[in-house]
Amino acid sequence: MSQPTTKTDTKTPQTLEEFMAQALVMEREAAQRYNDLADAMEIHNNRDVAQMFRTMAGYEAKHAEQIMQEMNWVEVPGVPTGAWPAMEPPESVPHDEVHYLMHPWHALQLALAAEERAREFFDQLALVATTESVRKAALELRDEEAEHVALVLAWIAKTPKPDAQWANDPDPPRYVD
Ligand code: ZN
Repeated sequence: MSQPTTKTDTKTPQTLEEFMAQALVMEREAAQRYNDLADAMEIHNNRDVAQMFRTMAGYEAKHAEQIMQEMNWVEVPGVPTGAWPAMEPPESVPHDEVHYLMHPWHALQLALAAEERAREFFDQLALVATTESVRKAALELRDEEAEHVALVLAWIAKTPKPDAQWANDPDPPRYVD
């Protein structure tokens, strides 16, 4: 129904370079958000979960480094606008979901949702990939995201679920920034 897509309309990456550039942006954003979550948990004196988020941030940052090396990039390439179907790269935890009274359990739920979105994203990309190199790269990244999902689930399993009153505060609640 539509005209052939232009280079700037890259909802589906056509080349390995395009795909990897998008994946790189995603990994870098994800690392940043995990560091934000770690900061939030440190404010609550929850060092364990803060440490867990730092570890996740490290994984995502390492991922980004690997992509740079694999592609022989010395600089982060620009990603065409419109590269993402949604407003946020799929792996990022939206800032407005970070509540100031958030317990580790909630932070972990956000992380889980982000990792599941990332896994689904790469899974879908593998399905629609038009080149074998993109398909292969998408499957590899999907498997690594699946490992992240498992990791977060393991943390959730040992994290107590807060009671239903967790967000009650005598002072009017406000969201963090
Ligand atoms: Zn991940």
